[in-house]
Amino acid sequence: MSSERSAGDFVPAAASADIGVYGLGVMGANLARNLARHGHSVAVFNRTPARTERLIDLHGGEGDFVPAADPAHFVASLRRPRAVIIMVQAGAGTEAVIEQLSPLLEPGDIIVDAGNTYYADTERREASLREQGIHFVGMGVSGGEEGALLGPSIMPGGTEASYARLGPLLESISAHVDGVPCCTHVGPGGAGHFVKMVHNGIEYADMQLIAEAYDLLRRVAGMSVPEIADVFRDWKRSELDSYLIDITAEVLDRIDPATGEPFVDVIVDAAGQKGTGAWTTRTALELGVAVPAIAEATFARAASSATAQRAAVRAAGINAGTTRPGFATAAERDAFVDAVRQALYGSKIAAYAQGFDEIATASAQRGWNVDLGAMARIWRAGCIIRARFLDDITRAYGEDPQLPTLLTAPVFSRALNEALPAWRQVVSAAALGGVPAPAFAASLAYVDQLRARRLPAALIQGQRDFFGSHTYHRVDDPVGVYHVLWAEPGRAEEKWS
Ligand code: NAP
Repeated sequence: MSSERSAGDFVPAAASADIGVYGLGVMGANLARNLARHGHSVAVFNRTPARTERLIDLHGGEGDFVPAADPAHFVASLRRPRAVIIMVQAGAGTEAVIEQLSPLLEPGDIIVDAGNTYYADTERREASLREQGIHFVGMGVSGGEEGALLGPSIMPGGTEASYARLGPLLESISAHVDGVPCCTHVGPGGAGHFVKMVHNGIEYADMQLIAEAYDLLRRVAGMSVPEIADVFRDWKRSELDSYLIDITAEVLDRIDPATGEPFVDVIVDAAGQKGTGAWTTRTALELGVAVPAIAEATFARAASSATAQRAAVRAAGINAGTTRPGFATAAERDAFVDAVRQALYGSKIAAYAQGFDEIATASAQRGWNVDLGAMARIWRAGCIIRARFLDDITRAYGEDPQLPTLLTAPVFSRALNEALPAWRQVVSAAALGGVPAPAFAASLAYVDQLRARRLPAALIQGQRDFFGSHTYHRVDDPVGVYHVLWAEPGRAEEKWS
């Protein structure tokens, strides 16, 4: 047992460990502890031995750890078929570790990449390792440091055979809701990392929408930070109930001890990003799927960080034409607060519809067969976007797995109809007041685009045909291909096929 082993006790063990964790940084160490605490024997290895020693010193008593001195001992300590989770810096780190481990493994063994890897890299690695008979699993893990230790949401891709070996271990350590694990086999190839990428894209949109709601409450409704914290606590009792709403209230509650000011006012207003929002947006562009709320959320972080441009535009005094509504009574202000709640809910439905559309499109194109309802189910706990609302999404796909978009699920079309009047008022107030609300506005435009009987896309087709002979279809012949001879005097219409 681990308690009998010391940090320096790197003796090659019998091939008995259930699973290995390579990479004992913040995430890897916590994942290894979570596995050990659930009764699994875990081989552990880290490039820098001090991290392995530290894990065994501090937490060796939590379960059965098998510390390894080098990759060969690490692999030798695993039972067959071997399963190794690598949790290292995505990119060069992942590449280096795969190169190190693959010659030591045998056909049937499994390498799991639990880092935040771009799904196309996962597909490439999976294809190459498949030639050696090694199963390569790209696995999304959400929930950060705490989730890795106490129960993350887990999104594994790869083969069915690899899930048969890994599933029971992973499901035992994932978060659970009413006894149901927040882990399922997402689909083959890079499906797991793809779904994790879109999860993060949705997270970007969710955070931006909440930030816009806060800004409108502060700058249009004129509320104080503590008052806004109370509003978010109130919204927790509504369909908006979610982890992100919870932590928003907590962040807004905090007072900076150094200045006595609200903490939110002492933070530099330039949002960072690690790239998953950009990946989700770029991939959507490649797939031809509209994800405007996710894209606007990503662009908003970039715009916030364009500090030199922001200073220059402020200095240039570009600020004409803003008007803020006055609220004569508390009741009027309360009505605006409720309108913001409805705009937030409507926008959230639109943002999730976009993310699920991106997953559905990739799944259809690549034959992944991703169960969309199951994705909402495994996001109900352990991850950053956990929310009450996800139950409605699971139910909606349960009732109709072929939903063309989440917007048409009865629960959401009803909610959108309720929210739209207030949502329009809020977007108008934001525009008139000069308060940027790009994700609210883009989500509203998305819904309006999808519900429009006719779109000005017809005019764009006419323009394209004029300058580039790109052709068009006619409403009375939707399959025929037409072109107008714009340069000829008669500008006759020809049917090309
Ligand atoms: P971390 O604490 O910075 O640890 C990085 C680990 O990678 C260390 O064990 C390091 O080993 C190892 N490593 C880096 N390059 C290596 C190489 N060339 N060969 C072997 N080992 C190498 O990172 P982390 O926060 O645990 O994140 C690990 C992965 O999880 C990343 O892909 C990250 O995107 C993903 N992730 C993180 C979170 C989060 O909330 N932090 C959430 C989900 C997913 P040494 O000790 O020898 O340097």
